Amino acid sequence: MAKEKSAIFIIFGGSGDLAHRKLYPALYRLYKAGILKDHFAVIGTARRPWSDDYFRETVVTSLEDLDDDKQKMEDFAKHFFYQSHNVNDSEHYIALKELAAKLDDQFEAGHNRVYYMAIAPRFFGTVAEHINSEGLKTEDGFNRLVIEKPFGRDLASASELNDDLSKAFPENEIYRIDHYLGKKMIQEIPNIRLKNPKFEKALNNKYVSNIQVTLGESLGVEDRGGYYETAGVLRDMVQNHIMQIIGSIAMDTPEELTAKAIHKVKTDLFSSLDVLEPEEVNKSFVRGQYDTDRLGKLNAYRDEDNVDDNSNIETYAAGKLEFNDERWSGVPFYVRSGKRMPAKSSRIDIVFNDKVSEFGVNPNTTVSLLIEPEEGHSILVNGIDYQSSNQDLIKFPEDKTYFDNAREAYESLIIDILSGDRVHFTLWDELQSTWKYIDVIREKWDSEDTDFPNYLSGTMGPEAADTLLERDGNSWVWDD
Ligand code: NAD
Repeated sequence: MAKEKSAIFIIFGGSGDLAHRKLYPALYRLYKAGILKDHFAVIGTARRPWSDDYFRETVVTSLEDLDDDKQKMEDFAKHFFYQSHNVNDSEHYIALKELAAKLDDQFEAGHNRVYYMAIAPRFFGTVAEHINSEGLKTEDGFNRLVIEKPFGRDLASASELNDDLSKAFPENEIYRIDHYLGKKMIQEIPNIRLKNPKFEKALNNKYVSNIQVTLGESLGVEDRGGYYETAGVLRDMVQNHIMQIIGSIAMDTPEELTAKAIHKVKTDLFSSLDVLEPEEVNKSFVRGQYDTDRLGKLNAYRDEDNVDDNSNIETYAAGKLEFNDERWSGVPFYVRSGKRMPAKSSRIDIVFNDKVSEFGVNPNTTVSLLIEPEEGHSILVNGIDYQSSNQDLIKFPEDKTYFDNAREAYESLIIDILSGDRVHFTLWDELQSTWKYIDVIREKWDSEDTDFPNYLSGTMGPEAADTLLERDGNSWVWDD
């Protein structure tokens, strides 16, 4: 039986999209699993003057696709309370503190607090500062601050944000969410490596030809054009999700599977990233922006709502990263992420060289770890389900349904937050290295004109992304 956790959650931005689409459904699943039961309450805060009853109605509505057990949903919603709040008003934090203390007594929540920033990033620092100055933090329970992406726009703004947060919360109380780290396949990578000694032994520059990480999306920017104009795929996907995925597959073997040991090897890996010189950027990275599709039916990016007619924001990026550590020196890591690709596909492809035959497998074997579209999931060896591939480079897990019962990413990350386990969260040291790497590319791109749009919707991106690999005698494993 799952062990019940206790806490008062204060969700800043409790009326917003993230809260309703991701957080409340995740909390409900934990409620159904008995991990949240009697000893928790959720305070939603936002500017609007909502009543508790109205807030609860919105919470129940956000669960409708999950369940038809109306009674269970209503019992769950009784743990929800609303507090109207403006981020700059000190009085509101005092009211929040009093409400949290009252609910803590009522639900016997053990003086534990989770402060969740489901609010615009420009407010993160202000809210953290007020939590501290108005004395919201408790003495005899835990205090954990959860931060959503984006964590800064570049190294300078990320450092400024981190300084602001650090005044209120020590690093070990900060949980920076990268929801890819909540996905089952990514979480399992250290375990897969541990349980497959041959695979682990082959995971280095002696046996690996190249590693490819793809986060492809079939959708365009939809109604998020305004946000996308401030981001671009380099900031939105590469700096965070792609880097963290590379961290999981390429980090050195940790001494043990603890947060401390795993973060140590990840931090070491990122600090060995070979930062490009500005003049190398366009040799190692390719950018793209989607046009209409072959039939001329879909909007080009520049025709989307809230997008500038001459926008130079990239909706596609592909690049070659290199590490100058002993394990990976000489091995290219090809990464790409794009909108309006032919299908949604998140995957890691590890292409071995001919020396891998020392392990009794075919030369040039490819192992693919498929992350999405289904949450989980498959491991392929040369494109075939590893269990029927007759290759024993990788053999985990035994049970074919292993990934099927995986918890959804937010559900899994909230359990970690309640348990004080930071293994699946991003540390500041890692972020500094990855921003430093991305900043050079961003600055170069921002200083130059482009010939956008340069790929049709529904295609694999600009041709230059293929040339990038062909120059090294390689090609993308996932190709339409
Ligand atoms: P949203 O605009 O839907 O919600 C923002 C919330 O902040 C609302 O509840 C709003 O009332 C509140 N708010 C705005 N101004 C306020 C003020 N002055 N004082 C108090 N409250 C105020 O935004 P969202 O999509 O839910 O995103 C929230 C955060 O999560 C952002 O940092 C975003 O980058 C991040 N995020 C969102 C998603 C997603 O899927 N929506 C995914 C990843 C990260």
